[in-house]
Amino acid sequence: MAAQLIDGNALARQIRAEVAGRTQALKARGVQPHLSIILVGEDPASVVYTKHKVNDSTETGLSATLERYPDTMAEAELLARIRTLNADPKVHGILVQLPLPKHMDAHKVIETISPAKDVDGFHVQSAGALLTGLPGFLSCTPYGCMKLIETTGIDLRGKNAVVIGRSNNVGKPMALMLLGKDATVTMCHSRTKDLKAHTLMADVVVAAVGKRNVLTKDMVKPGAVVIDVGMNRNDEGKLCGDVDFDGVKEVAGWITPVPGGVGPMTRAMLLVNTLEAAERASQ
Ligand code: NAP
Repeated sequence: MAAQLIDGNALARQIRAEVAGRTQALKARGVQPHLSIILVGEDPASVVYTKHKVNDSTETGLSATLERYPDTMAEAELLARIRTLNADPKVHGILVQLPLPKHMDAHKVIETISPAKDVDGFHVQSAGALLTGLPGFLSCTPYGCMKLIETTGIDLRGKNAVVIGRSNNVGKPMALMLLGKDATVTMCHSRTKDLKAHTLMADVVVAAVGKRNVLTKDMVKPGAVVIDVGMNRNDEGKLCGDVDFDGVKEVAGWITPVPGGVGPMTRAMLLVNTLEAAERASQ
């Protein structure tokens, strides 16, 4: 039986509508939620992503500014600009688009953002809050994946979940969020000996690798929920994920497509985090 499709576009639309409603309520109290985005350099993908982030914000009633700087910008100048935004009460969220030029230390830059405005959820304080179960901002991509998993109605308590990939921004926070819902979590990575042995046991698989066909039909337990974070290009140059979608959909119970799965949810969760930053600041 073919898996049910988890429609990330539809869920993102619903979340954006909720954000718009809460934003109206905040505006009625005189608070305009605002996201400040900084882009250093001309990376073509980053230019597109930051434009989307501004448009998504304004379409939902949030305001957003995009500050663009040349890749010759000094790190000290960027840090000073972030500190100014940290101190500005009209700015609720700050996002520095990655990757940064090579002469900049991305860790130092992210750590300079106030944790109260860290809407990407990349600050160590945000990561620590997730680790210890304290309130903080969740990294947008795994946060979006959790929302996608929720739509299947699966009760994660005691279920086996496998996360493929252990990056700081996706794999590790994803595993912690699943653990927070009482799943039994296994993290796999490039040194994992027998990936299939792990994935075959999994009720939920999240693939966050960046390589095509990391997860194929023979590696999936019948009925499993499969979330595909990967963004790759196939031989025809079309966007595809880490999962062999056509094969895996024959055995999985639920599956996200690429495009139209995790991507739109990552964008939606940034709006949620920005709105929450404004709500917290106004309390
Ligand atoms: P990353 O930092 O490059 O991490 C990739 C992870 O995959 C690493 O932990 C690596 O293991 C692991 N890995 C590599 N080859 C493997 C293999 N053959 N089997 C098992 N694990 C393997 O990437 P990322 O930032 O997490 O992103 C992952 C993918 O998601 C990329 O395609 C990225 O473009 C996409 N992405 C999409 C969104 C979205 O909104 N849709 C957001 C973020 C990322 P080691 O640690 O051992 O090297």
